[in-house]
Amino acid sequence: MNRLNTDLSYENLVERLEKAGFATYPVGGCVRDSLINRKVEDVDLTTLARPDDIRRVFSDKKLIDIGKKFGTIKVIADGEAFEITTFRSEGAYKDGRHPDEIQFSDTLIDDLKRRDFTINAMAFDKGKIIDPFGGRDDLERKIIRAVGNPYERISEDYLRSLRAVRFATRLGFELEDGLKKAIRENSGKINLISNERISDEIGKILLEDEPSRGVRLLDDLGLLQEILPEVKRTIGFDQHSSHHNLDVYSHSLKVLDGTEADLATRMAGLYHDVGKVDTFFLDEKGEGRFFGHQKLSAELLEKRLKGLKFPKFFISDATSIVKRHMDSSNTYTKKSIRKLLRKLGEENLRRLFDLQRADILATVHTDTGNIDHAERILDEVLLDESPKKRSDLSINGKDLLALGYPQGKVIGKVLAMVEEEIIDDRLENNKEAIFAFLAKGINLDS
Ligand code: ATP
Ligand code: MG
Repeated sequence: MNRLNTDLSYENLVERLEKAGFATYPVGGCVRDSLINRKVEDVDLTTLARPDDIRRVFSDKKLIDIGKKFGTIKVIADGEAFEITTFRSEGAYKDGRHPDEIQFSDTLIDDLKRRDFTINAMAFDKGKIIDPFGGRDDLERKIIRAVGNPYERISEDYLRSLRAVRFATRLGFELEDGLKKAIRENSGKINLISNERISDEIGKILLEDEPSRGVRLLDDLGLLQEILPEVKRTIGFDQHSSHHNLDVYSHSLKVLDGTEADLATRMAGLYHDVGKVDTFFLDEKGEGRFFGHQKLSAELLEKRLKGLKFPKFFISDATSIVKRHMDSSNTYTKKSIRKLLRKLGEENLRRLFDLQRADILATVHTDTGNIDHAERILDEVLLDESPKKRSDLSINGKDLLALGYPQGKVIGKVLAMVEEEIIDDRLENNKEAIFAFLAKGINLDS
């Protein structure tokens, strides 16, 4: 291999640091991915240069200190970003989360030794691979193996358990037996890690091409019950339903794989039916029923995402489509699509359709005609003149004040009523028509 598998011009940076006397190498993911012919989007460099040296060598570039404490500096060169980190070895970890101290080092080997897995602990030296821990062999054998003793490496930083799952999911690799055991025996400790770091990894796992593999592996390692216990409860839950040939868990994983790589949709896919466990009952015909499960699923998802510190807007996106995933049992109409568009916005409505289509295809049914139809209506509605949101109305609060309506709640109520009339095609969205409608007098108490 002459060059990393990337369009980024990392050579210039390496050369400048080396000219200044500092050994420098591309390291980690970029080496791993190049060796298996995956396109590399990020090149990280590791160097003998200390942070001050890096700043001096690149004083003509835009520099961003990321993790000052760890000596990583982001250099922006010709619009491309590179993270440059000083060789370091890590001191003891007492808390299973972060090293008590980091130490800069003068050797590449120390730096490779502190990395998590053999496939992530290789550096690239102008055509040669520096691979002290057998990363290349493990890549070939498709194995994720810890650098050094897996128990020690996992208990230094429990997040590595989730990182192992992520790489296994992405690459279709197996975990080496010792690593597997170490993760299993420490699965309960994952909660020592901050919620932000956990949710970041969960997000990455769910965005892989076949996320179900990651979820199954989380379960196999005892991690699912720790981080997503509501999903764990669905395993083996028989639906007793003529619509389903899969238990709630396998169905949900199929839905998950069937959705686009969008995190809100994937989260929704994973959680859309968790509420079935507690709403289940058998009707007189012996058929499983789950009235209101969509609402309960949304509540459980909201609670979980809040706990994991996902941002508010994300929680609202993901739960809003879980709540409505059963809507497609009614035939969509122009009226219902307009209403949904107003409530959800276009982005979430498209997510909802994606979820619903995957949901149908993960049952014994195959007909997604109602969803196709809904998407066609949505395209039409987006092109027509109807208001998509409150500010698309041809009148606003000021117009109402000018007409003599009192300042206060009334204004919002009147606007809502006008909007409703327009969306239901009883009123045109122009000032004249709206004023005429208001002049007839409206009943605000209804
Ligand atoms: P990706 O393609 O997902 O970015 P990556 O291998 O570049 O994969 P990063 O999370 O960007 O992964 O980390 C860069 C490198 O830093 C890794 O390849 C690994 O060598 C090292 N590393 C990252 N996190 C840890 C950790 N928690 N413990 C040990 N080494 C780590
Ligand atoms: Mg990376």
